[in-house]
Amino acid sequence: MAQTRIAPPAARAEGQWAFGQLEPLNGNELFKQQDDALNVRQRIEDVYSREGFASIAPEDLRGRMRWWGLYTQRKPGIDGGKTATLEPHELDDEFFMLRVRCDGGALSLQQLRTVADISVEFGRGTADVTDRQNIQLHWIRVEDVPEIWRRLEAVGLSTQEACGDCPRVVLGSPVAGVAADEIIDGTPAVRAIVDNYIGDPRFSNLPRKFKTAISGSPHHDVAHEINDVAFVGVVHPELGPGFDVWVGGGLSTNPKLGVRLGAFVTLEQVPDVWVGVVSIFRDYGYRRLRTRARLKFLVADWGPEVFRQVLEGEYLGYALVDGPEPPPPPGGRRDHVGVHPQNDGSFYVGMAPTVGRISGELLQQLADLVEAAGSDKVRLTVEQKIVVLDVAPDKVDPLVEGLEALGLPVRAASTFRRGTMACTGIEFCKLAIVETKARATHLIGELEDRLPTFDQPITINLNGCPNSCARIQTADIGLKGALAGGEDGYQVHLGGGLGLTSGLGKTLRGLRVPAEELPDYIERVTRKFDEQRLEGELFAQ
Ligand code: SF4
Repeated sequence: MAQTRIAPPAARAEGQWAFGQLEPLNGNELFKQQDDALNVRQRIEDVYSREGFASIAPEDLRGRMRWWGLYTQRKPGIDGGKTATLEPHELDDEFFMLRVRCDGGALSLQQLRTVADISVEFGRGTADVTDRQNIQLHWIRVEDVPEIWRRLEAVGLSTQEACGDCPRVVLGSPVAGVAADEIIDGTPAVRAIVDNYIGDPRFSNLPRKFKTAISGSPHHDVAHEINDVAFVGVVHPELGPGFDVWVGGGLSTNPKLGVRLGAFVTLEQVPDVWVGVVSIFRDYGYRRLRTRARLKFLVADWGPEVFRQVLEGEYLGYALVDGPEPPPPPGGRRDHVGVHPQNDGSFYVGMAPTVGRISGELLQQLADLVEAAGSDKVRLTVEQKIVVLDVAPDKVDPLVEGLEALGLPVRAASTFRRGTMACTGIEFCKLAIVETKARATHLIGELEDRLPTFDQPITINLNGCPNSCARIQTADIGLKGALAGGEDGYQVHLGGGLGLTSGLGKTLRGLRVPAEELPDYIERVTRKFDEQRLEGELFAQ
């Protein structure tokens, strides 16, 4: 088919490789061009792990090590007011956060035990489930990294491209392959992308991070609207089950929801289309300013029609079939918490750790329960929750009792425990302005005490800074860390949502709620909604 060429913009160069604009336009582009970031692994193995933190070259420490899932932690004791005033090296601790990618949110029992043991042995027992189905460990020393990699890779896990300007973890439905109401199982496409393209030097220097989501669940359980590319399960009237393609979603400071290309792809086509989209991003993506380097800006400038033409004409070499829009998900929750029947007579059991915070020891205890329940499959969700698959009917109650005794509620999870998420925040994150995890944990406890009968689905998301790692713009109540009179506080976004209520919340300008007033404020908002809501109305409507 005829190729579509997109003319370069007349204005100043944006660093778009497709137009020969290869000159690095900022420091990040420079270090990426000087040496493929994936090559830092050899230096970590051969030099840095042997000679220690002080031996790490600055452009590796704050640049390339991210491609192997390593970020320096925030030095303890530096308050949020200093975040923007200090040089990056002044915020660097000598310990690292290590992100373990769990593509599709999938962990086997052996993988779960391995991560748990690494946390206990090397990470002071820390472990957080993230809202992108990863597990993050803290307090990692560079000296221990090669041994950690050896143990992870021995069981099929990896930290490769868990961070950095590259294809990050591929999100997948936590209940892929087992859900009774599944449209299509996207697992083979997740595996094909990970096995063939993660660590591929053709895609290790993208303008910025690239986020992928694939789910055949009618519940839209991977937040597809905020990914760079997403494949959403749908049934084509003639071709049967497949996927609807979305591009250009992303939050942070210029939030945009993804848009449909109107194209239907089969399970087998997903990897090729993925390669096409990521290649467009690599070749045409803007590289001059980091703040404009996500795919969403290119999609916003081109529009979905032009994007699809370029994808088909320049990258796939064939036209995609038009496809139907996915039906809206059923209302209510999509976190998979609770006990649910599978398609094979067994059950999956979802639990709600508080804001994703667990520990190595807790993971070890969880692994014991999973084993006793006869399961080999644990799944992480994009709501910082955990699901155990393949539980026989007679094993369900003992498992639920065991989980609840560990503080991982299944049937007893309150709506606030289920619906509240928090990013890493000032405890470990160098960009944070305020505390998040501990604050959110306190908030949940307060709301459970004050509103014990409130059971409507509600999402309350806390970020430590404007970067939106915890998706504040798509929460019913989004709380963005911002100092209030020099003290911790939160700017409020109300009315965002995903799925049935997809949309970006509205910022209540001028309002900064001091941290200690947060429980009072959220209680007031929640009570008001509860008093005024119509039958069946959800918070974001
Ligand atoms: Fe750090 Fe900000 Fe992301 Fe929270 S939202 S983890 S504070 S960068």
